[in-house]
Amino acid sequence: MSHEDDIQALTRLMADFTAFIGKRLPDDVVAKLQALRDQEQKDLSKVVYDSMFENLAQAIALNRPACQDTGVINYFIKAGANFPYLARLQNILVQAVKTATVEAPLRHNAVEIFEEINTGDNTGERAPFIHWDIINDGDEVEIEVYMAGGGCSLPGRAITLMPSAGYEGVVDFVFDTIVNWGINACPPLLVGVGIAGSVENAALLSKKAILRPIGSSHPNLKGAALEKRLEQGLNELGLGPQGLSGSATVLGVHIESAARHPSTISAAINIGCWAHRRGTIRIKGDLSHEIISHREVAL
Ligand code: SF4
Repeated sequence: MSHEDDIQALTRLMADFTAFIGKRLPDDVVAKLQALRDQEQKDLSKVVYDSMFENLAQAIALNRPACQDTGVINYFIKAGANFPYLARLQNILVQAVKTATVEAPLRHNAVEIFEEINTGDNTGERAPFIHWDIINDGDEVEIEVYMAGGGCSLPGRAITLMPSAGYEGVVDFVFDTIVNWGINACPPLLVGVGIAGSVENAALLSKKAILRPIGSSHPNLKGAALEKRLEQGLNELGLGPQGLSGSATVLGVHIESAARHPSTISAAINIGCWAHRRGTIRIKGDLSHEIISHREVAL
């Protein structure tokens, strides 16, 4: 195959993977929803969880998106510097989104700022949103696809606190945000918290936090303990599935952090909803690939 043939094959692969992510939740999210359903005591809440599972089954059976809001497409890329298609990858992903929008189909969710025109193909200024990490000099890439729906993006917040506010200030911020806005995001929620020295760093980290597998922990023991305490406290709110009350509020709480300035402590929140559509694919330089987030799936 020529290099151009390879580009076409990679575009096809990413279009198929992007469309697929809109239709089937990752294994860890399904397992957590099942665990919450199993522990639920309220009859109404059980019915809501059961309707979610019926929804997911029908999405697969009918080959349709799992939610009508297929979101703004985000790609988070961990790349080896010698991946042979690195220079073309941005254009490949833009084309993949256009193709997936027609074929999946995906709802048209890219509205140009100032012009206020929906582009109709989910691409536009910095859409899809692409974030790059060059992690080594290897020839592989790992691409995380995330569909940021409107409801789950709505509670997103960032704040910079005086350092005297401390971690208690971060906890207050998390609870205020979830109490005031969490119900808009179709609970149970995956709560991503970023803690850093400025809002843009905290915001990016809070988005990366909801890309982590459910059940994973912050590498620092104090960070991991704060994740658990926030999870327990938020569950005490009892928002339940779709906010109709129940024994849980969250799928989990994940914190990502970066060293802060001594004079500031910034915090940010990003929320994933029950239909947390993300997926991870690892692609080698020879274009062989492995889907990390979903077992026993072939595109
Ligand atoms: S919050 Fe999630 S499940 Fe609810 S409408 Fe938005 S994308 Fe769909």
